Formats: sequence, C-alpha cells, structure tokens
Amino acid sequence: MRELIINIGRMKTVFLVTTVCVFISVFITLLAIIVFRIFSVYLNVSIGLTIAICAPVIVAPSITFLLTGMIFEIHELELKMRLLATYDSLTGILGRRAFMEQTNYICRFSERQGLDFTLLIIDLDHFKRINDEYGHAAGDRVLEEFGRVLKQVSRESDLAGRIGGEEFALFLPVTSEENARILAERIHKAISESVVECNGRQIKYSVSIGLAFFPRTVNNIKIALNYADKALYSAKKNGRNQTVVYHTDMEQ
Ligand code: GH3
Ligand code: MG
Ligand code: MG
Repeated sequence: MRELIINIGRMKTVFLVTTVCVFISVFITLLAIIVFRIFSVYLNVSIGLTIAICAPVIVAPSITFLLTGMIFEIHELELKMRLLATYDSLTGILGRRAFMEQTNYICRFSERQGLDFTLLIIDLDHFKRINDEYGHAAGDRVLEEFGRVLKQVSRESDLAGRIGGEEFALFLPVTSEENARILAERIHKAISESVVECNGRQIKYSVSIGLAFFPRTVNNIKIALNYADKALYSAKKNGRNQTVVYHTDMEQ
C-alpha cells in the first residue's frame, strides 16, 4: 500500500482518495434514500446528493494530504537510514557491515560457481602520526581522499569498503592475482602522485596492502580477510608502502 502511494505521488493520491470517497458517499446516500422510501420516508434527493458530494470533497483532501505527507516523511527517513547503514559517511564507500554482508554473498556464490576472486586489505601507514602532526580533521581529509582514490581505481563490479578506522578492503570478483597486483600498484601510484591539502598544508601519505588470491576454496569473507591480513602484516613488517601477496608459508 505504502509503495503504491509513493509510486503514485502525493497529489494524485489525494485526488484518487477524494474521488473514491465521493463515490462511496454518493452510493451510501442513494442506498439510504431507497431504504427510507421502503418505509415511506421521502428524503430530498438533491440535498442528499449535494451533501454526499460536498462533505468528502471538503474533508478527504486535507486528511489525505496530511497522511500521505507523513508516509513520504517516513519513507525518506527510511532511505536515509538505509544509506547511513550501508555507506561510510566520510568516504562514501561501503561501511564494514554492508561490505561483510555483500562480499560474503559473493564468496559463497564464487565457491559454488567455481569462480576465483582476490581480496585486498589496505591500511594507511603511520596514520596516527598524520593525526598527531596535522590534526584529526586533516586525518579525516586523508581518509576522504583515499576513499576517492579507491573509487577511481576500481571497477563498478568491485566492492570497496572501510572496514576499520584507517583500514580498507577491496573485493575483486573473478580477478586473477596478476590483475589484482596491477590494481594494487595503481593504488600506490595514485597515492604517491596525490597531495592532500588541509589548512594550507600539504600532506603526503602511503598505504600497505595485503593481497590474497582465492581459487574457489574459500566461502567465507572472514576467513578470506584473515589470509589477506597475514599479507598486510608482512607488508608492514617489510617497511610499509608496499603490497605483499599471501602465500602458504605465512602461518594461519
Ligand atoms: P601502521 O602504519 O602500523 O598502520 O600505523 P598507524 O599509526 O596507522 O596505526 P595505529 O593502529 O597505531 O593508528 C591508527 C590511527 O588511526 C589511530 C586512530 O586515531 C586513527 N583513526 C582511526 N579512525 C579515524 C578517523 O575516522 N579519523 C581520523 N582522523 N583518525 C582515525
Ligand atoms: Mg595504519
Ligand atoms: Mg590499522
């Protein structure tokens, strides 16, 4: 019902409801006139019909207008809440919960269909220092800028999410390890060429990336993230600002 009202629109709903009310009112009035006639009570038809038409025409539009207004407000609030629950407000990419839900589904689908995928965990290097040196607002600007870079380098079919404070993930369906490596390099390059401006100061930053390729063996995003995390840990340990690919020597 609510969907129908939203699809029809407010003014059309008011018009429709008023028309229906007029018809019902006229029908009931005519029925009453006929019933009264059976008992030899003769009501004035023209007065009866005038009231039957005027009353709903006066009352129905204002009530319907108010009620549909409330329905539209609730609908807009729901949309806003859904957006807030799905997307990270700072970067505009998926928030952690939505990322986990959506990628988990593709994980299971990939395993069943025999499709591979690659997962990247990306963590901003020494981000605490950026906050300490330039302030929290500048840190936020860097996160925002990095969200823009992720959107710019990835495809529409890839899923980018902010999975922690300064930790991001990129899920690449049906993507080989080699192609994912190329994408990771594009991320490093885009960041090295970009400068974040905040309060007249220029901020440079870098990221470390853990990359894990999954040839149809994993059907759970948490497990996949765990593998990529090992590679990320290695990237940090090796000096940061680099991508490390997961391999089986990295203990689980
Ligand atoms: P590493 O290279 O080892 O990752 O060092 P790091 O400093 O990036 O890592 P650490 O985990 O020590 O610090 C992460 C920092 O990120 C601490 C926290 O204050 C900051 N941070 C988390 N979320 C936000 C945010 O939304 N905005 C800002 N400005 N800072 C954030
Ligand atoms: Mg960090
Ligand atoms: Mg971190």
